[in-house]
Amino acid sequence: MLLLRDAHNRIIRDLRVSLTDRCNFRCFYCLPNGEPPLARKETILTFEEIERICEIFVSLGIEKIRLTGGEPMLRKDIEVLVEKLARLKVQSQSESQISNLKFQIIDSENRKSQIANRKSLDLALTTNGHTFPRRAANLKKAGLDRVTISLDSLRRERFREITGVDALENVFESIEAAKKYNLTPVKINCVLVRGRNDDEIVDFARFARERDVEMRFIEFMPLDAGGDWRRESIVTAREIRETINRAFPLHLKEKSRGAETAWRYSFADGAPGEIGIVAPVTEMFCGACSRIRLTADGQIRTCLFSTDEYNLRAFLRGGASRAEIVEFIQAVVLKKEARHSINDEKFAPASRSMSFIGG
Ligand code: SAM
Ligand code: SF4
Ligand code: SF4
Repeated sequence: MLLLRDAHNRIIRDLRVSLTDRCNFRCFYCLPNGEPPLARKETILTFEEIERICEIFVSLGIEKIRLTGGEPMLRKDIEVLVEKLARLKVQSQSESQISNLKFQIIDSENRKSQIANRKSLDLALTTNGHTFPRRAANLKKAGLDRVTISLDSLRRERFREITGVDALENVFESIEAAKKYNLTPVKINCVLVRGRNDDEIVDFARFARERDVEMRFIEFMPLDAGGDWRRESIVTAREIRETINRAFPLHLKEKSRGAETAWRYSFADGAPGEIGIVAPVTEMFCGACSRIRLTADGQIRTCLFSTDEYNLRAFLRGGASRAEIVEFIQAVVLKKEARHSINDEKFAPASRSMSFIGG
Protein backbone atom coordinates (compact mmCIF):
# COMPACT_ATOMS: atom_id res chain seq x y z
CA MET A 1 0.00 0.00 0.00
CA LEU A 2 1.17 3.49 -0.84
CA LEU A 3 1.99 5.36 2.37
CA LEU A 4 2.58 9.04 3.01
CA ARG A 5 6.17 9.34 4.14
CA ASP A 6 7.76 12.72 4.80
CA ALA A 7 11.34 13.81 4.25
CA HIS A 8 12.17 12.95 7.89
CA ASN A 9 11.01 9.36 7.45
CA ARG A 10 7.81 9.83 9.43
CA ILE A 11 4.69 8.11 8.14
CA ILE A 12 1.56 10.24 8.15
CA ARG A 13 -1.41 8.35 9.54
CA ASP A 14 -3.49 10.99 11.27
CA LEU A 15 -5.62 13.57 9.41
CA ARG A 16 -7.31 16.42 11.28
CA VAL A 17 -10.12 18.02 9.37
CA SER A 18 -11.40 21.42 10.45
CA LEU A 19 -15.07 21.75 9.53
CA THR A 20 -15.42 25.44 10.31
CA ASP A 21 -13.39 28.37 11.58
CA ARG A 22 -16.43 29.62 13.53
CA CYS A 23 -16.92 29.09 17.23
CA ASN A 24 -19.62 29.82 19.80
CA PHE A 25 -17.01 30.01 22.60
CA ARG A 26 -14.27 32.56 23.12
CA CYS A 27 -11.66 30.62 25.09
CA PHE A 28 -9.04 33.16 26.08
CA TYR A 29 -6.15 30.84 25.10
CA CYS A 30 -7.55 30.27 21.59
CA LEU A 31 -9.98 32.83 20.25
CA PRO A 32 -10.32 35.78 22.62
CA ASN A 33 -13.15 38.30 22.41
CA GLY A 34 -14.19 40.03 19.28
CA GLU A 35 -15.19 39.03 15.78
CA PRO A 36 -12.40 37.09 14.13
CA PRO A 37 -11.71 37.42 10.39
CA LEU A 38 -13.56 34.35 9.09
CA ALA A 39 -13.06 32.64 5.75
CA ARG A 40 -15.62 33.57 3.06
CA LYS A 41 -18.51 31.13 2.97
CA GLU A 42 -17.84 29.99 -0.59
CA THR A 43 -14.30 28.97 0.34
CA ILE A 44 -15.48 26.48 2.96
CA LEU A 45 -15.25 22.91 1.68
CA THR A 46 -18.53 21.10 1.04
CA PHE A 47 -19.18 17.69 2.58
CA GLU A 48 -18.69 16.11 -0.86
CA GLU A 49 -15.29 17.78 -1.19
CA ILE A 50 -14.26 16.69 2.30
CA GLU A 51 -15.39 13.15 1.55
CA ARG A 52 -13.42 13.07 -1.68
CA ILE A 53 -10.26 14.36 -0.01
CA CYS A 54 -10.61 11.99 2.94
CA GLU A 55 -11.12 9.00 0.69
CA ILE A 56 -7.88 9.80 -1.09
CA PHE A 57 -6.02 10.32 2.18
CA VAL A 58 -7.34 7.01 3.50
CA SER A 59 -6.14 5.25 0.37
CA LEU A 60 -2.71 6.72 1.19
CA GLY A 61 -2.61 5.13 4.63
CA ILE A 62 -4.46 7.55 6.90
CA GLU A 63 -5.87 5.53 9.80
CA LYS A 64 -7.38 8.25 11.95
CA ILE A 65 -9.60 11.15 10.98
CA ARG A 66 -10.47 13.71 13.63
CA LEU A 67 -13.15 16.30 12.92
CA THR A 68 -12.43 19.58 14.62
CA GLY A 69 -12.56 23.36 14.16
CA GLY A 70 -13.49 26.04 15.34
CA GLU A 71 -16.48 24.27 16.79
CA PRO A 72 -17.29 21.36 14.44
CA MET A 73 -20.80 20.96 15.88
CA LEU A 74 -21.69 24.33 14.35
CA ARG A 75 -21.50 22.71 10.95
CA LYS A 76 -25.08 21.97 9.96
CA ASP A 77 -25.87 18.27 9.47
CA ILE A 78 -22.45 17.11 10.64
CA GLU A 79 -24.05 13.67 11.03
CA VAL A 80 -24.35 13.49 7.23
CA LEU A 81 -20.61 14.02 6.86
CA VAL A 82 -19.84 11.47 9.58
CA GLU A 83 -21.97 8.96 7.72
CA LYS A 84 -20.09 9.62 4.49
CA LEU A 85 -16.72 9.24 6.21
CA ALA A 86 -17.80 6.14 8.10
CA ARG A 87 -18.25 4.45 4.72
CA LEU A 88 -14.48 4.67 4.36
CA LYS A 89 -14.02 2.19 7.17
CA VAL A 90 -13.10 -1.32 6.24
CA GLN A 91 -16.16 -3.41 6.80
CA SER A 92 -14.61 -6.66 5.71
CA GLN A 93 -11.40 -7.86 4.14
CA SER A 94 -13.37 -9.71 1.52
CA GLU A 95 -13.34 -8.29 -1.99
CA SER A 96 -17.05 -8.96 -2.48
CA GLN A 97 -18.08 -6.88 0.48
CA ILE A 98 -15.59 -4.17 -0.41
CA SER A 99 -17.20 -3.85 -3.81
CA ASN A 100 -20.56 -3.35 -2.13
CA LEU A 101 -19.29 -0.18 -0.49
CA LYS A 102 -20.52 2.80 -2.40
CA PHE A 103 -17.32 4.69 -2.97
CA GLN A 104 -18.26 7.02 -5.75
CA ILE A 105 -14.73 7.96 -6.60
CA ILE A 106 -12.90 4.68 -6.55
CA ASP A 107 -11.71 4.55 -10.09
CA SER A 108 -9.74 1.33 -10.32
CA GLU A 109 -9.52 -2.26 -9.14
CA ASN A 110 -6.13 -1.35 -7.80
CA ARG A 111 -7.73 1.18 -5.48
CA LYS A 112 -10.15 -1.44 -4.19
CA SER A 113 -7.36 -3.79 -3.25
CA GLN A 114 -5.48 -0.95 -1.54
CA ILE A 115 -8.58 -0.33 0.55
CA ALA A 116 -8.92 -4.04 1.29
CA ASN A 117 -5.39 -4.09 2.69
CA ARG A 118 -5.55 -1.14 4.99
CA LYS A 119 -6.34 -1.07 8.69
CA SER A 120 -9.73 0.12 9.79
CA LEU A 121 -10.34 3.82 10.08
CA ASP A 122 -10.81 5.53 13.44
CA LEU A 123 -13.29 8.41 13.24
CA ALA A 124 -13.16 10.93 16.10
CA LEU A 125 -14.49 14.38 16.94
CA THR A 126 -13.24 17.18 19.20
CA THR A 127 -15.94 19.48 20.56
CA ASN A 128 -16.52 22.09 23.24
CA GLY A 129 -19.61 20.10 24.23
CA HIS A 130 -22.13 22.93 23.96
CA THR A 131 -24.61 21.24 21.63
CA PHE A 132 -23.21 17.73 21.71
CA PRO A 133 -25.60 15.98 24.17
CA ARG A 134 -28.69 16.15 21.98
CA ARG A 135 -26.79 14.96 18.91
CA ALA A 136 -24.62 12.23 20.43
CA ALA A 137 -27.03 9.41 19.56
CA ASN A 138 -27.22 10.39 15.89
CA LEU A 139 -23.46 10.83 15.64
CA LYS A 140 -22.95 7.34 17.01
CA LYS A 141 -25.52 5.99 14.60
CA ALA A 142 -23.77 7.75 11.74
CA GLY A 143 -20.54 5.93 12.58
CA LEU A 144 -18.54 8.17 14.91
CA ASP A 145 -16.13 6.12 17.04
CA ARG A 146 -14.87 8.48 19.71
CA VAL A 147 -15.18 11.96 21.09
CA THR A 148 -12.85 14.35 22.88
CA ILE A 149 -14.51 17.08 24.90
CA SER A 150 -12.78 20.26 26.08
CA LEU A 151 -13.12 21.28 29.72
CA ASP A 152 -10.88 23.87 31.38
CA SER A 153 -12.57 24.35 34.73
CA LEU A 154 -14.89 22.41 37.01
CA ARG A 155 -16.15 25.66 38.54
CA ARG A 156 -19.13 27.23 36.86
CA GLU A 157 -18.10 30.86 37.15
CA ARG A 158 -14.52 30.21 36.12
CA PHE A 159 -15.68 28.12 33.18
CA ARG A 160 -17.70 31.13 32.02
CA GLU A 161 -14.70 33.42 32.44
CA ILE A 162 -12.46 31.11 30.41
CA THR A 163 -14.86 30.36 27.55
CA GLY A 164 -17.18 33.38 27.62
CA VAL A 165 -20.21 31.06 27.92
CA ASP A 166 -22.07 29.73 30.96
CA ALA A 167 -22.11 26.14 29.72
CA LEU A 168 -20.37 23.93 32.28
CA GLU A 169 -23.52 21.80 32.70
CA ASN A 170 -23.65 21.15 28.93
CA VAL A 171 -20.11 19.82 29.08
CA PHE A 172 -20.94 17.51 31.97
CA GLU A 173 -23.97 16.28 29.99
CA SER A 174 -21.75 15.77 26.95
CA ILE A 175 -19.45 13.52 28.91
CA GLU A 176 -22.38 11.42 30.10
CA ALA A 177 -23.86 11.27 26.59
CA ALA A 178 -20.52 10.18 25.12
CA LYS A 179 -20.37 7.36 27.65
CA LYS A 180 -24.01 6.41 27.18
CA TYR A 181 -23.56 6.04 23.43
CA ASN A 182 -20.23 4.28 23.76
CA LEU A 183 -18.19 7.00 22.08
CA THR A 184 -15.30 5.74 24.13
CA PRO A 185 -12.69 6.07 25.47
CA VAL A 186 -13.95 9.56 26.33
CA LYS A 187 -11.07 12.01 26.45
CA ILE A 188 -11.28 15.38 28.15
CA ASN A 189 -8.89 18.09 26.93
CA CYS A 190 -7.78 20.70 29.44
CA VAL A 191 -5.36 23.51 28.64
CA LEU A 192 -3.71 24.55 31.89
CA VAL A 193 -2.66 28.18 32.12
CA ARG A 194 -0.73 29.59 35.06
CA GLY A 195 -2.90 31.68 37.34
CA ARG A 196 -6.11 30.75 35.53
CA ASN A 197 -6.86 27.09 36.29
CA ASP A 198 -3.64 25.48 37.55
CA ASP A 199 -5.13 25.21 41.05
CA GLU A 200 -7.59 22.61 39.70
CA ILE A 201 -5.11 19.90 38.66
CA VAL A 202 -5.96 17.59 41.55
CA ASP A 203 -9.70 18.27 41.18
CA PHE A 204 -9.43 17.25 37.53
CA ALA A 205 -7.56 14.06 38.46
CA ARG A 206 -10.32 13.24 40.96
CA PHE A 207 -12.88 13.97 38.23
CA ALA A 208 -11.12 11.44 35.93
CA ARG A 209 -11.38 8.80 38.66
CA GLU A 210 -15.00 9.53 39.51
CA ARG A 211 -16.24 9.74 35.92
CA ASP A 212 -13.94 7.08 34.45
CA VAL A 213 -12.57 9.29 31.68
CA GLU A 214 -9.12 10.12 30.35
CA MET A 215 -8.21 13.60 31.53
CA ARG A 216 -5.67 15.07 29.09
CA PHE A 217 -3.69 18.06 30.20
CA ILE A 218 -2.24 20.06 27.32
CA GLU A 219 0.52 22.61 27.64
CA PHE A 220 -0.49 26.08 26.50
CA MET A 221 0.97 26.77 23.03
CA PRO A 222 1.59 30.09 21.29
CA LEU A 223 -1.40 29.61 18.99
CA ASP A 224 -3.83 32.03 20.63
CA ALA A 225 -5.33 34.66 18.36
CA GLY A 226 -4.77 37.33 21.01
CA GLY A 227 -0.99 36.83 21.09
CA ASP A 228 -1.01 36.71 24.90
CA TRP A 229 1.01 33.48 25.22
CA ARG A 230 3.99 33.77 27.55
CA ARG A 231 6.43 31.01 28.46
CA GLU A 232 5.71 31.73 32.15
CA SER A 233 2.04 30.87 31.55
CA ILE A 234 2.84 27.24 30.73
CA VAL A 235 2.13 24.69 33.40
CA THR A 236 4.77 22.09 32.54
CA ALA A 237 4.25 18.35 32.17
CA ARG A 238 6.63 17.81 35.06
CA GLU A 239 4.61 20.01 37.39
CA ILE A 240 1.34 18.35 36.36
CA ARG A 241 2.78 14.88 36.91
CA GLU A 242 4.25 15.76 40.31
CA THR A 243 1.10 17.50 41.53
CA ILE A 244 -1.14 14.56 40.65
CA ASN A 245 1.34 12.00 41.95
CA ARG A 246 1.27 13.59 45.38
CA ALA A 247 -2.51 13.20 45.60
CA PHE A 248 -3.04 10.05 43.52
CA PRO A 249 0.10 8.06 42.65
CA LEU A 250 0.32 7.37 38.92
CA HIS A 251 1.51 4.42 36.93
CA LEU A 252 2.95 5.03 33.43
CA LYS A 253 1.09 2.89 30.92
CA GLU A 254 2.96 0.61 28.60
CA LYS A 255 3.13 1.76 24.99
CA SER A 256 2.54 5.26 26.23
CA ARG A 257 3.93 7.88 23.84
CA GLY A 258 5.53 6.43 20.68
CA ALA A 259 3.46 7.80 17.82
CA GLU A 260 1.01 9.11 20.42
CA THR A 261 1.36 12.61 21.71
CA ALA A 262 0.39 11.91 25.31
CA TRP A 263 2.14 10.28 28.22
CA ARG A 264 -0.64 8.10 29.60
CA TYR A 265 -0.99 7.05 33.20
CA SER A 266 -3.36 4.87 35.15
CA PHE A 267 -3.97 5.31 38.87
CA ALA A 268 -1.67 3.09 40.94
CA ASP A 269 -4.52 2.18 43.32
CA GLY A 270 -6.51 0.68 40.44
CA ALA A 271 -9.18 3.40 40.36
CA PRO A 272 -10.92 3.92 37.02
CA GLY A 273 -9.96 6.74 34.68
CA GLU A 274 -6.68 7.81 33.16
CA ILE A 275 -4.39 10.79 33.01
CA GLY A 276 -2.82 11.97 29.76
CA ILE A 277 -0.17 14.66 29.59
CA VAL A 278 0.52 16.34 26.25
CA ALA A 279 3.64 18.44 26.47
CA PRO A 280 4.43 19.91 23.06
CA VAL A 281 6.61 22.63 24.54
CA THR A 282 8.64 21.11 27.38
CA GLU A 283 8.75 17.51 26.12
CA MET A 284 8.52 17.97 22.37
CA PHE A 285 7.30 14.95 20.37
CA CYS A 286 7.74 16.22 16.80
CA GLY A 287 10.12 13.36 15.95
CA ALA A 288 7.15 10.96 16.11
CA CYS A 289 4.59 13.28 14.52
CA SER A 290 2.16 11.48 12.21
CA ARG A 291 -0.25 14.37 11.60
CA ILE A 292 -1.44 16.48 8.77
CA ARG A 293 -4.25 19.04 8.77
CA LEU A 294 -6.92 20.24 6.38
CA THR A 295 -8.40 23.65 7.18
CA ALA A 296 -12.09 24.45 6.70
CA ASP A 297 -11.19 26.46 3.58
CA GLY A 298 -9.28 23.58 2.05
CA GLN A 299 -5.65 24.37 2.84
CA ILE A 300 -3.27 21.61 3.82
CA ARG A 301 -1.11 22.42 6.83
CA THR A 302 1.85 20.16 7.47
CA CYS A 303 2.39 21.38 11.05
CA LEU A 304 0.48 23.32 13.71
CA PHE A 305 3.19 25.94 13.43
CA SER A 306 3.42 26.07 9.64
CA THR A 307 3.97 29.47 8.10
CA ASP A 308 2.90 28.14 4.67
CA GLU A 309 -0.27 26.39 3.53
CA TYR A 310 -1.02 24.43 0.37
CA ASN A 311 -4.21 25.26 -1.48
CA LEU A 312 -5.86 21.91 -2.11
CA ARG A 313 -9.24 23.61 -2.58
CA ALA A 314 -8.12 25.52 -5.65
CA PHE A 315 -6.55 22.39 -7.07
CA LEU A 316 -9.65 20.31 -6.42
CA ARG A 317 -12.07 22.91 -7.76
CA GLY A 318 -9.82 23.38 -10.77
CA GLY A 319 -10.79 19.87 -11.90
CA ALA A 320 -7.69 17.94 -10.84
CA SER A 321 -7.81 14.19 -11.41
CA ARG A 322 -7.39 11.72 -8.60
CA ALA A 323 -3.81 10.96 -9.68
CA GLU A 324 -2.98 14.67 -9.68
CA ILE A 325 -4.43 15.12 -6.19
CA VAL A 326 -2.41 12.16 -4.91
CA GLU A 327 0.74 13.70 -6.39
CA PHE A 328 -0.10 17.08 -4.85
CA ILE A 329 -0.59 15.54 -1.38
CA GLN A 330 2.62 13.52 -1.65
CA ALA A 331 4.61 16.59 -2.64
CA VAL A 332 3.11 18.61 0.25
CA VAL A 333 3.91 15.88 2.79
CA LEU A 334 7.56 16.02 1.72
CA LYS A 335 7.60 19.62 2.90
CA LYS A 336 6.51 18.77 6.44
CA GLU A 337 8.56 20.61 9.05
CA ALA A 338 10.94 18.56 11.18
CA ARG A 339 9.67 20.26 14.34
CA HIS A 340 8.31 23.45 15.83
CA SER A 341 10.63 26.21 16.97
CA ILE A 342 8.83 27.37 20.14
CA ASN A 343 11.97 26.76 22.18
CA ASP A 344 14.33 28.48 19.73
CA GLU A 345 15.48 32.02 20.18
CA LYS A 346 13.97 32.95 16.84
CA PHE A 347 10.47 31.49 17.07
CA ALA A 348 8.48 32.04 13.88
CA PRO A 349 4.78 32.21 14.85
CA ALA A 350 2.27 30.11 12.91
CA SER A 351 0.44 31.80 10.05
CA ARG A 352 -2.96 31.19 11.69
CA SER A 353 -4.20 30.66 15.22
CA MET A 354 -5.67 27.47 16.69
CA SER A 355 -9.37 27.92 15.88
CA PHE A 356 -8.51 28.50 12.20
CA ILE A 357 -6.00 25.66 11.98
CA GLY A 358 -8.09 22.91 13.56
CA GLY A 359 -6.58 21.74 16.83
N1 SAM B 1 -13.82 23.79 19.56
C1 SAM B 1 -13.43 22.47 19.82
C2 SAM B 1 -12.92 22.32 21.22
O1 SAM B 1 -12.60 23.31 21.85
O2 SAM B 1 -12.84 21.19 21.67
C3 SAM B 1 -12.42 21.93 18.82
C4 SAM B 1 -11.36 22.84 18.35
S1 SAM B 1 -10.19 23.37 19.58
C5 SAM B 1 -9.12 24.39 18.63
C6 SAM B 1 -9.27 21.87 19.80
C7 SAM B 1 -8.41 21.81 21.05
O3 SAM B 1 -7.37 22.77 20.93
C8 SAM B 1 -9.16 22.15 22.32
O4 SAM B 1 -9.15 21.06 23.20
C9 SAM B 1 -8.42 23.32 22.87
O5 SAM B 1 -8.36 23.26 24.26
C10 SAM B 1 -7.06 23.23 22.22
N2 SAM B 1 -6.38 24.53 22.15
C11 SAM B 1 -6.87 25.68 21.65
N3 SAM B 1 -5.96 26.68 21.76
C12 SAM B 1 -4.87 26.15 22.35
C13 SAM B 1 -3.60 26.67 22.74
N4 SAM B 1 -3.28 27.94 22.54
N5 SAM B 1 -2.71 25.82 23.31
C14 SAM B 1 -3.03 24.51 23.50
N6 SAM B 1 -4.20 23.96 23.15
C15 SAM B 1 -5.13 24.75 22.60
FE1 SF4 C 1 -13.68 27.56 20.28
FE2 SF4 C 1 -12.44 25.29 20.80
FE3 SF4 C 1 -11.05 27.54 20.45
FE4 SF4 C 1 -12.53 27.28 22.63
S1 SF4 C 1 -10.76 26.01 22.06
S2 SF4 C 1 -12.46 29.08 21.28
S3 SF4 C 1 -14.23 26.10 21.89
S4 SF4 C 1 -12.24 26.52 18.92
FE1 SF4 D 1 3.81 17.67 14.47
FE2 SF4 D 1 4.28 20.27 14.10
FE3 SF4 D 1 2.92 19.43 16.27
FE4 SF4 D 1 5.56 18.99 16.02
S1 SF4 D 1 4.54 20.98 16.22
S2 SF4 D 1 4.02 17.49 16.70
S3 SF4 D 1 5.77 18.61 13.81
S4 SF4 D 1 2.28 19.27 14.12
